[in-house]
Amino acid sequence: MKKLSCRVLVVGGGPAGATACRELNRLGINNILLEKNLNFTKPCGGGLIMSAFSEFNIPKSLIHKKISKIEIISPKLNRAIVNIKDYPLTIVNRYEFDRKLRELAREGGTKIIEAKAYNIDLNNSPIVFAKSKNMEFEIHAQYIIAADGVNSTIRKKALNETHSRIITRYMDIENINIDSCQFWFGSDISPKHYSWIFPHHNRINIGLASNNEKKIGEYFNTFLKKSNLDSSKNRAKGYYIPQWSGERAVYFKKNIFFVGDSASMVLPFTYEGIYYAMKSASIAVNAISKNEPSLYQKEWERLYLKKFKFLRLLQRLFLSNDYFSEKLVQLYQRKSFQKSVIAYWVGEKEPTDRISTIWKFIKVIFK
Ligand SMILES: Cc1cc2nc3c(=O)[nH]c(=O)nc-3n(C[C@H](O)[C@H](O)[C@H](O)COP(=O)(O)OP(=O)(O)OC[C@H]3O[C@@H](n4cnc5c(N)ncnc54)[C@H](O)[C@@H]3O)c2cc1C
Repeated sequence: MKKLSCRVLVVGGGPAGATACRELNRLGINNILLEKNLNFTKPCGGGLIMSAFSEFNIPKSLIHKKISKIEIISPKLNRAIVNIKDYPLTIVNRYEFDRKLRELAREGGTKIIEAKAYNIDLNNSPIVFAKSKNMEFEIHAQYIIAADGVNSTIRKKALNETHSRIITRYMDIENINIDSCQFWFGSDISPKHYSWIFPHHNRINIGLASNNEKKIGEYFNTFLKKSNLDSSKNRAKGYYIPQWSGERAVYFKKNIFFVGDSASMVLPFTYEGIYYAMKSASIAVNAISKNEPSLYQKEWERLYLKKFKFLRLLQRLFLSNDYFSEKLVQLYQRKSFQKSVIAYWVGEKEPTDRISTIWKFIKVIFK
């Protein structure tokens, strides 16, 4: 058993973990990163808002595609086209993206160990036990940052729970080029959620999310037929996305900061998780640098609680049935509505409160 120690141990080297290490390096805080598989490719559409590249100083060479148009397709196949050229969405390849962020962390001073964390001891200051192919580690740290994703081992061990999550089914189809991200609504393909078609370099990623693991195969086949895609040469896969646990979220406990998917910080309705994983990591590191753990929750809630609640409410209202989803697409056909939604999305406009949102919804639906 090899014994190591550091001020901060980061478990998980996805966008949250790698960003935490980069921020720790920037602030001169000694850290170690544990990643169980340095060749892992996180199943992901790879959609990330363009501004994240300058905010987190990420090389733009990682951008595979720049998207300036979103298509929203209703249950009855009506379409709305939303122009986002002022706030483009980028598509990244997660294998390259995660590797590059870890490489930048390593260059900044992080010691990276390829090993799986399997247990923790929280009796005094935390100890994490990890295993690689040929070695066992016992790592002592003042703080742990749990960035080990939706199936977080640290979360299971420290809190004795996993959070609520939804299942996805997705597939890559080669030799198809499209220039927009498509979001499809409908109870026949993804009740209460959406299905997507995202472009990548010379291929597309098609998928959907559901609470119903038994029926997801059926929904996926219906979606393939509805979108006229030939999937005969490809195999569908599945992976979980955490469902934001809202007011029950745990940010910090027993010297452990939970960030990214391990803290369920995925935006409801859109399921964007990459940006919020990086953002939560940088807010947690700021709290560590001030030795004031409670700052993490305070700052995160100040920035995002209202937005997350607002998106959760919109999802519950508009995706509850086909009639309301149809209305949503009609709304998206209006330029003024598109402008407001984009302003909420990029954080230029504050979400309205619950009562006025429901009131606006009632006016839209019943007029
Ligand atoms: C099908 C699908 C499509 C998606 N599409 C998008 C999208 O287009 N845009 C978007 O913003 N979000 C998307 N998401 C969500 C997004 O992928 C996640 O929110 C994001 O990856 C979270 O980052 P993270 O660093 O918290 O966790 P992860 O990216 O999951 O990274 C966790 C890391 O921890 C490592 N790890 C796990 N357990 C251990 C352990 N015990 N010891 C050591 N290491 C460990 C893993 O190997 C992994 O590298 C999608 C998710 C899915 C499933």
